[in-house]
Amino acid sequence: MVCDGHVFIAECVCIHVVSDPTMRGGVSTADHEGLDYDVAIIGAGITGLMTAYTLAEEGYRVGVFEAASGPGQGVTANQSEVIHVVQLPFGSVKSKLAREGNLMYDELCARLGVPFKRVSALLVVRSRLTLAPLLLGYLYLRLNLRGRFGVRITGSRGAFELEPRLSDKVKGAIVVDGYGVVDSKRLIAKLHEHLAGKVDFHFNCEVLSGKPQGPVFQLRTTRGDFACKCVVNAAGLYADEVAARLGLRVEPIKPGLGVMTEYGGLEVNSIIAPFSLIQRGRTKGGGIIPTMRGTVIFGPNLRLLERKSEAEPTDDDVRELESKFQPLLRVRGKLLRVYAGVRPLSPHGDFLLLEGYSGKLINLIGIESPGLTAAPALGRLVAQRVKSVLGVHQNSAVGEGLDRAGVGAVRGGVDSGVDGV
Ligand SMILES: Cc1cc2nc3c(=O)[nH]c(=O)nc-3n(C[C@H](O)[C@H](O)[C@H](O)COP(=O)(O)OP(=O)(O)OC[C@H]3O[C@@H](n4cnc5c(N)ncnc54)[C@H](O)[C@@H]3O)c2cc1C
Repeated sequence: MVCDGHVFIAECVCIHVVSDPTMRGGVSTADHEGLDYDVAIIGAGITGLMTAYTLAEEGYRVGVFEAASGPGQGVTANQSEVIHVVQLPFGSVKSKLAREGNLMYDELCARLGVPFKRVSALLVVRSRLTLAPLLLGYLYLRLNLRGRFGVRITGSRGAFELEPRLSDKVKGAIVVDGYGVVDSKRLIAKLHEHLAGKVDFHFNCEVLSGKPQGPVFQLRTTRGDFACKCVVNAAGLYADEVAARLGLRVEPIKPGLGVMTEYGGLEVNSIIAPFSLIQRGRTKGGGIIPTMRGTVIFGPNLRLLERKSEAEPTDDDVRELESKFQPLLRVRGKLLRVYAGVRPLSPHGDFLLLEGYSGKLINLIGIESPGLTAAPALGRLVAQRVKSVLGVHQNSAVGEGLDRAGVGAVRGGVDSGVDGV
């Protein structure tokens, strides 16, 4: 892979649009050419499903290939269900797609009948000494969220009015409006239900290999061979390995465990997180999060793993979460469960969209948090790339300020800015 400025181009391939006379106005002609599908999507997590949702709306013939026995059993199964606003750095692809995706959630959930509610996030401080950095953080967020999401700063009284269960040690907070919490299991189930009949789902069907042969892309799976025009690799934690199976070498995805603790008998109105002016490492820092189940989550934390398959929370993880979040509250809940998910950490700290074979293969690498939030916008962006590769040109904007391929990378590490949630 070579890096050309902010555009990453996979080995031996270039990003360009090919025109295909068989595709007109988004209406599939796949059936007439011995092709199984216009587009094969590998992975039925939230990213693959949202891509299928957009493409199916436009009349493309789509097949979704999933190694597990049903949808949403990968990274999407164990996460904290927050629809985010603040993701640093603000110029990254994941941050822009998250802000766009966030704004699409009300309509998406209303259409599918999925429980979703808007909440605010309180980034709190417990020392008067941190009130000056809090003010700086407030100005930074106001500047970057530019009127699309409400941001205000409040003292302890205002914070308690919003959140009566806050510890009386809290001295002030930045309040960011426009966050959301969603029942992600219902979202996956409803998306699957909505797409059944419009899209072919192949479960228990692992993609083993694939390559372009003339104008078609041949996929070999555990359930036979399939021919299509274009392949979207949305294999989550395994997207790097799937890319290799399809003949493209990409830098490895790093697994990062995120542990969460869930409590009953504890109600909060908002997402609550300790404010910090610096984001350390590869996490937004987690928070106290209300769920659509009426429970509250602490977390997630982040622990880098050697192997993708290790996913066991430890007592140390639980202690870390309790010592970080319990002091922000005046009440204690009853611990119901401890669970964990594995983040597909991007080799470059940002979502990577790597195209291969003249755009016949689109790899989505490192779709880490806030991938749930970004999914509607990422699905739309990928669908627009597919359409342009198949020769249908769209005029609509693809993400605020993303380059034409929507391909980008931002070096990871320590970002200066505001940490929380
Ligand atoms: C602890 C944690 C907390 C998080 N919290 C949030 C949050 O609050 N808000 C937010 O916006 N984001 C959050 N995220 C991020 C979000 O969960 C992910 O970005 C998102 O779920 C990724 O979805 P995906 O569809 O890309 O991947 P996945 O859900 O992993 O889907 C990929 C699918 O591909 C399948 N697959 C893999 N290999 C093959 C193959 N060879 N053949 C066929 N199928 C294959 C897998 O079985 C899997 O089902 C969190 C993540 C973690 C780990």
